[in-house]
Amino acid sequence: MEHQDFLSSDIRFIKGVGERRASAFYSLGVHTKGDLLSHFPRAYEDRTKIKKIIECLHDETVCIRATVSSPLRKNMIRRNMTIYSARLSDGTGTIEAVWFNMRFLDNQIKPGAEFIFYGKIQTTPKKRIQTPIFERPDVQKQTGKIVPVYPLSSILTQKIISDSMRAVFSDLPGELSDPLPEYIRKQYDLMDIYDAYKQIHFPESATALEQARRRFVFEEFFFLQTALFRLKGRREKLNGEPIEIHPELKNFVGSLPFALTNAQKRVLTEILTDMKKDTPMNRLVQGDVGSGKTAVAACAMFSCAKSGMQAAFMIPTEILAAQHFESIAPLFSAFGIKTELITGSMSAGARRKAQERIASGESSVCIGTHALFSEQMEFQHLNLVITDEQHRFGVNQRKQLGDKGTNPHTLVMTATPIPRTLALAVYGDLDVSAIDELPPGRQIIDTYPVGEDMRKRIYAFIRKEVNAGHQAYIVCPLVEDSEVLDLKSVTNYAEQLKNDVFPDLSVAFLHGKMKAAEKDEIMRQFAEKGIDILVATSVIEVGVNVPNATVMVVENAERFGLSQLHQLRGRVGRGKDKSYCILFNQSQQDYAKERMEVMRRTNDGFIIAEKDLELRGPGEFFGTRQHGLPPLKIANLYSDTDVLAQTTAAARALLVDDPLLKKPENSKILEKIQQIFQKNITFS
Ligand code: ADP
Ligand code: MG
Repeated sequence: MEHQDFLSSDIRFIKGVGERRASAFYSLGVHTKGDLLSHFPRAYEDRTKIKKIIECLHDETVCIRATVSSPLRKNMIRRNMTIYSARLSDGTGTIEAVWFNMRFLDNQIKPGAEFIFYGKIQTTPKKRIQTPIFERPDVQKQTGKIVPVYPLSSILTQKIISDSMRAVFSDLPGELSDPLPEYIRKQYDLMDIYDAYKQIHFPESATALEQARRRFVFEEFFFLQTALFRLKGRREKLNGEPIEIHPELKNFVGSLPFALTNAQKRVLTEILTDMKKDTPMNRLVQGDVGSGKTAVAACAMFSCAKSGMQAAFMIPTEILAAQHFESIAPLFSAFGIKTELITGSMSAGARRKAQERIASGESSVCIGTHALFSEQMEFQHLNLVITDEQHRFGVNQRKQLGDKGTNPHTLVMTATPIPRTLALAVYGDLDVSAIDELPPGRQIIDTYPVGEDMRKRIYAFIRKEVNAGHQAYIVCPLVEDSEVLDLKSVTNYAEQLKNDVFPDLSVAFLHGKMKAAEKDEIMRQFAEKGIDILVATSVIEVGVNVPNATVMVVENAERFGLSQLHQLRGRVGRGKDKSYCILFNQSQQDYAKERMEVMRRTNDGFIIAEKDLELRGPGEFFGTRQHGLPPLKIANLYSDTDVLAQTTAAARALLVDDPLLKKPENSKILEKIQQIFQKNITFS
């Protein structure tokens, strides 16, 4: 059988895999034998090293080589539940082994018998090894090696997966076609595909495993970056329509209620320079919460609109879209520019009229939500597309809107600062600017991580702020009671706050499952001081602007990412009044405490982003859906930066040498990147 056929044959054809197991595999995204090979372990158990009993630490899972030094004891604690235990010693110390309901132990665990035990250690109240597996030192089938731990689903067990893997390997053709050309493998000292699969699933040593992993990490980064760089290369060849800097832009900037910061000026210049070119701009602007991205976007739109073309500004939520519209439209109208707001919740009639004014060119700026993607939206001459809070829209959505013009200039703005090297890797198709300075006079928001014991005092503090004429947010991680136990549900909690804690104040709640119109109404009331305390889920995370709010309380703060907490904190301190952020940390873990401490120590979004990345890893930091790129199965953007540096160089060199990937030795690469991006980016 050809290996290609072999790899693409269904996993049902693996020995021991029937319909039921097959469908469990499908739910993991494993459909073919080839998919199974790429179902990488999520972790490994190192059962190669034998530890001395005296060295065993609490909570670690280890191998010990020990002799049974007491008879097996049985202790029936209730019907169906017998605890077996025996003392083990290895000359350095003793430990108690404990099993549940394992009757067959009788004939093996006898004083004097020596085994290798593998299990989890507890040191309090006394030293124990829990339900260890054990085998004679001369057998070593389950110990003495590095054992993969796979992601599971439903009826699949580790054993089923490793048995299936073994079955695939036993029929695997020795020579697999390698997507990485040999010259690249040689240059970067990478394992070939067959050995790499073998070592990642059945590692012979830690070194071999590391080499196998490095190969797959390389492969993953390499194809991703090649695809992104190629995309960028293509765009640089596209024809765009230049937008000259409009002479009245100076007057517009002068009409703003503030002077632009140096960082805003610098980034605006970068944008205007891009827009003057006859290739379309494709730029990412990063700027911390409150750094003033909107003003920069407005200036770019102004220049575009005044030059007789149209600009679209895409915003992730209705509330925000309305806020931006309200702040921008009057500034523009002073210069004769008409602006439209397009959202999903506006009446059909109003929306149709707005659409007509855009289609006819009467209005030249359009601010809106996802509704901007809709079929009916037509532009007369769209040449600038700006998306705010970029991570909420995928590459595809950006493209959809872009398709409404002819290669319009595009700008994406994000408030989640990403360390620069990573930004380049992940957004390899974009140029990156950073607004790395806050407007003057911005206050530091005092941040206090607190525990339950402080709850009464915090409520009293909120009341004090409200009595002084201010407002507060209380943010909870969830919407409905049933989603996860033991977390505060917004609904119940808001009721409780309203009825029991602040019966005399006006408390409202807001969550993502409410209708847009309802949410807008509550936000409007809050903005008009009709509500004192707004209890909400993280729907308010993005950009809501209520300068009179001075307190941000976050419940179960340990459940949020640091960058998300930073965004939430950015909802206060927007006016001149001293503002506070209180983080209820319900976790005792050092890790959670460390994260809260980061929040207390710094107000700098870039530092927080770095820490977030370091502490949580990029999987959660970026989230797959967040950046609209294919998921990384094995590579870790934070810890694999050394490989990333190599793949950046390799991908660049490749595209210099063979820009269209036409050379026969690179044909596999072309195939692979087309596969990867099929769903995400369309190659024309
Ligand atoms: P973000 O970057 O988070 O989107 P915004 O654009 O919403 O920030 O700006 C935050 C606030 O700062 C707004 O109220 C805006 O009017 C104000 N602002 C923006 N630029 C400046 C500046 N250069 N000087 C003073 N205030 C500014
Ligand atoms: Mg913003």
